[in-house]
Amino acid sequence: MELQLFDTYERKVRTFKPLVPGEVGLYCCGPTVYNYAHIGNLRTYLFEDVLRRVLALNGYQVKLVMNAWEMAEFYAAAFKQDLSLLNISEPDIWCKATDHIQEQVDFILDLQAKGFTYQTSDGIYFDSRKLDHYGYLARLDVAGLMEGARVESERHFVTDFALWKFSPADEQRQMEWDSPWGRGFPGWHIECSAMAAKYLGDYFDIHCGGEDHISIHHTNEIAQSEASRGTRMANFWMHGYFLQMDNAKMSKSTGGFLRLESIEAQGLPAVAYRYFCLTAHYRTQMSFSWESLESNGIALQRLYQAAWEWGDPSEVDEDFYQRFLNFVNDDLNMPRALALTWDLAKSSLPNAVKKATLLAFDVVFGLGIERWKPAVVDVPEAVQILAQQRQQARQDKQWQLADELRAAIAEAGFQVEDSRDGPSLKPL
Ligand code: AMP
Ligand code: ZN
Repeated sequence: MELQLFDTYERKVRTFKPLVPGEVGLYCCGPTVYNYAHIGNLRTYLFEDVLRRVLALNGYQVKLVMNAWEMAEFYAAAFKQDLSLLNISEPDIWCKATDHIQEQVDFILDLQAKGFTYQTSDGIYFDSRKLDHYGYLARLDVAGLMEGARVESERHFVTDFALWKFSPADEQRQMEWDSPWGRGFPGWHIECSAMAAKYLGDYFDIHCGGEDHISIHHTNEIAQSEASRGTRMANFWMHGYFLQMDNAKMSKSTGGFLRLESIEAQGLPAVAYRYFCLTAHYRTQMSFSWESLESNGIALQRLYQAAWEWGDPSEVDEDFYQRFLNFVNDDLNMPRALALTWDLAKSSLPNAVKKATLLAFDVVFGLGIERWKPAVVDVPEAVQILAQQRQQARQDKQWQLADELRAAIAEAGFQVEDSRDGPSLKPL
């Protein structure tokens, strides 16, 4: 099946064709907040990572550009650490808004020259009513807004937004720059329009972000690019839906939001969160609960263990692989692809084929199946001696002694498992 993706702009699933054969330009809105990422943010980055992997699986060379506002070094380091723990590879280009002030100023100058701006006492604004299709992405009812609107500031209309803000006269801001309009700083949306154009061109393949960006941030990115470049920026607009949680816990402002570190603090591996996210389609909201995360963590553990026991891979099963491709190419249907994985595990295929097929799936899942190894547990020497004595007793057919030794081993916290390869010890 050819790759099908849902485009929020057209509000439908469309066949994906790159603008330049073989290559895909992908822009994802990155972290903007001066803080740690919460697990909701990470759900969106996981969706974008799966998209990138599926594009690569379809043979495309992907160029991923992600922006970031200036962040303290340790927040940036913590963010990269989170990505790495979730097996998300870093973008090809990280671009900082603060390193691209000139590009943003030039973009605003162009908008000004084309008549899309006006000035108030606190900044330069985008005149949204000058644009015919303003708000199309979000299907905003601009006429309706116009009737009910009461604009408190000097803005002419509710949907107008700042392109450049003047620094308050009595305040020295930490981050401010000179511009043709005086000292100040760029508005929130202009960085994405300016940097995406610089690195990917005026019209590129896919632009992503979380669903919250549809009505304001992406609407305004499109408005700026339409006014200046005459394009809707990207051929496909894709949005990851929210992770829902107890609001008090999720919101960054309360300080008590959940981070990947909180998951690890509960004794769960970070990658269990990746598996958890794969169980829901990116276009549905998903509720977070510890119970659900834990049960998904157990399922992942079972998958790792099974794959380990399957031993070395041989060749991929074509039928399963084709079904897998159809699911992932059907607008990234990861829940179906994951269910197929359990069908594969339960199938009667030879273990080596199961292993090869699962490894092929994992190119998209990104669960690190190939790297996983059972935890090596140190067995105390005394317990090892008990196990040897028990083995001897069994060989001597001293069954009662063997049972007593097994009980002694259990008391020391270990369990003997007899298999064809001989006995092994596992912690109870
Ligand atoms: P921010 O750092 O707040 O700008 O958010 C970074 C990314 O995370 C953006 O693409 C947001 O749309 C997305 N995001 C924010 N909150 C959530 C959430 N609860 N679930 C999923 N994605 C989110
Ligand atoms: Zn953006």
